[in-house]
Amino acid sequence: SSKLRLDKLLSSLGYCSRREVALLIREGIITHAHNLPLKSDTKVSHDEILCEGEPLDPPQGIVILMHKPAGLVCSHDDGEGKLVYDLLPERWRLRDPKISTVGRLDKDTSGLLLLTDDGALLHRLTSPKHKVPKVYEARLDRALKGDEAEIFASGTLMLNGEKTPCLPAKLTVIDDTHVTLEIVEGRYHQVRRMFAAVGNHVTALHRCSFGTLTLGDLKAGEYRLIDAQSLSK
Ligand code: URA
Repeated sequence: SSKLRLDKLLSSLGYCSRREVALLIREGIITHAHNLPLKSDTKVSHDEILCEGEPLDPPQGIVILMHKPAGLVCSHDDGEGKLVYDLLPERWRLRDPKISTVGRLDKDTSGLLLLTDDGALLHRLTSPKHKVPKVYEARLDRALKGDEAEIFASGTLMLNGEKTPCLPAKLTVIDDTHVTLEIVEGRYHQVRRMFAAVGNHVTALHRCSFGTLTLGDLKAGEYRLIDAQSLSK
């Protein structure tokens, strides 16, 4: 991997400020994996540095697959309550570039959430041009009437306040108040608003998949790092 000044590397990963690096070296907290001497301005690669004997956090270009619990907010602003970022190591909030969610899930929605510090990847996964399919499982307040699948598939459904119809979406009925819906857009509160547009109300919403990715056995509140390659379709 490429070489960077040690102070730049550690501050970009959120370990400390650039000025504090000298102190961490002096205290033996930051060391070289092969015991070479270190100074703040030593050019190093990510994998030759240890913090308290441990490898550093993952380098820039990370992708996180999280099982978002209901009740957490996809925002950087902690005035809004507990954040999805609170599930990650504290230091990761200081990373540069910043880790952001790939789109958002509502506070009350659970399920598969991606986060990344890779701006180009984020754009590719959220741009409507790329039509990444997302599957949601929804519980409904009222029994389906029967024409919803056809309406959602038609590409003519208008959401309140919007100027263009929703792209075709695929409804799968589990029973008359329990469904999955596959959409390729990511409009604000889209699934809830699609059901509102057909006179129903979503009482619980969970995202099962994003593109080819699923949660597997990840429990709510857990996350794992994934390969950016596993996202290219
Ligand atoms: N649709 C919604 O209504 N909410 C979400 O969180 C995601 C899709």
